[in-house]
Amino acid sequence: MKKTKNPLLFYPMPKEGESFKGYILRLANRNGFTELKRFLYIFRIIQLPKRIFIVGTDEYYKFLNIISESSNVQQDKLDAFFAFEKEVQTIDDFSSEHVHLDTPQICPFCLAEDQYLKRDWQSLYFTHCYKHESKLWDRCLNCKKSFVWDGKLFVGCTNCNFKWSHFRPLADAPLPASQKSLGEASGECKLNLMQIIKQHLKFGLRPFDASFQNLRDIKKYVLNLEQHIEFAYQLAHSKEVLTELRKARKEHWQKKTFMTENLAILEQVEAVNDKWFNQVGAKTENFISAPTTPKEATHMVLTAHRRLNVDEDKACLELLWEQVCSVLNLSEKHVKDLIKQAILPGRMHKNSPKKVSPCRIDDLVLFYKIIKKIAKPLELKNDAIQYKSYIAWGNDRALAKHKLNTKKLVEYVLSGDVSLFAPDHDEHLFDDFCFCEEEVRKINLLQSQNLHLENSPNQRCA
Ligand SMILES: [Zn+2]
Ligand SMILES: [Zn+2]
Repeated sequence: MKKTKNPLLFYPMPKEGESFKGYILRLANRNGFTELKRFLYIFRIIQLPKRIFIVGTDEYYKFLNIISESSNVQQDKLDAFFAFEKEVQTIDDFSSEHVHLDTPQICPFCLAEDQYLKRDWQSLYFTHCYKHESKLWDRCLNCKKSFVWDGKLFVGCTNCNFKWSHFRPLADAPLPASQKSLGEASGECKLNLMQIIKQHLKFGLRPFDASFQNLRDIKKYVLNLEQHIEFAYQLAHSKEVLTELRKARKEHWQKKTFMTENLAILEQVEAVNDKWFNQVGAKTENFISAPTTPKEATHMVLTAHRRLNVDEDKACLELLWEQVCSVLNLSEKHVKDLIKQAILPGRMHKNSPKKVSPCRIDDLVLFYKIIKKIAKPLELKNDAIQYKSYIAWGNDRALAKHKLNTKKLVEYVLSGDVSLFAPDHDEHLFDDFCFCEEEVRKINLLQSQNLHLENSPNQRCA
């Protein structure tokens, strides 16, 4: 970026609530440059200048300085107009992911009244114009082409020139609750609302997925952003919607895993999520709006390993390590080892065999069924002493006395060297499986003998 020698002829001041990029487009248009790109050329800005439009970045300040020197308006004075836009940018750490900077989004009715682009329109969280109760558009309703950053946008479509003043209201559905609240809020309150919506965007029917915390993924994979934003808002403000989602999730998973009898495991997986739900749960009970039903935005969303799971059935069953470890009552290292040994169904990465992904809930259910089939019924009767002679699955502290752990014993169970015991009903968890202490002691003895033999080759002949 270099300073221009030619000062601008016209320098209108920004309007209240105008977006920075929209202001620059207006400035360009006023000075005879309809194309934003051509206007930037006079400042020697040729590379894709996305970050100069993110208010608060270094690139923005450098650009603002140039504009200020070319227009004789003090930089501080200009900057003050975009103070709120800067605060909005801090919601996502000056990222361009939660603003529509590539394609402008507009309310045709607002533009027909006054020719400037509003700050709210470029925010991901705004899908409607509060004033006109109309949807915001990023493409023309007449020619269906996306809008571009061109001065023509102030009066009509940048492609077919359809005038905004000729635009007639559509029979839109009533304003979604999220859009009503955002439209009524201002300042700190508005920022908080955006923040809350952002936090809830990753919730859906499927288990939580770390990969979906990126707004980039939301923009890319959510087909109906409007519905997604509204659902996120409702989740944060209505206890009924939250309860409904939890119920729907359980049913969804049950159906997907064919778990008709044992719900305990599904409940356990969901219990791990309680922490998340409590953190971001509904904040108020007096929520007035028709609640939307829990939804699955698209099967591509919430899938950590999109390349591996292309079809919908598989994609919906992802888990986090935290959930897998909690259900199996094993450490992450042990779970990973079991997957690598192909004992636990899971996924190894073809190109990097050292890397494994968390198994899905259907993997856990399958593993449970295999183990359950092998296990012998545990006869507890009224015998407390007998109970003491078992060591519970996952009780690695007790197993350490015998130089063993659950992971190692699982191998022995599957090779038939050790018996596994289970309660004689179907509704139980992994923690309820147990090993007979007597057998564990024997295995330990055998193990140390083998070790002894391996270390003393002379004795092998004896
Ligand atoms: Zn409007
Ligand atoms: Zn058009």
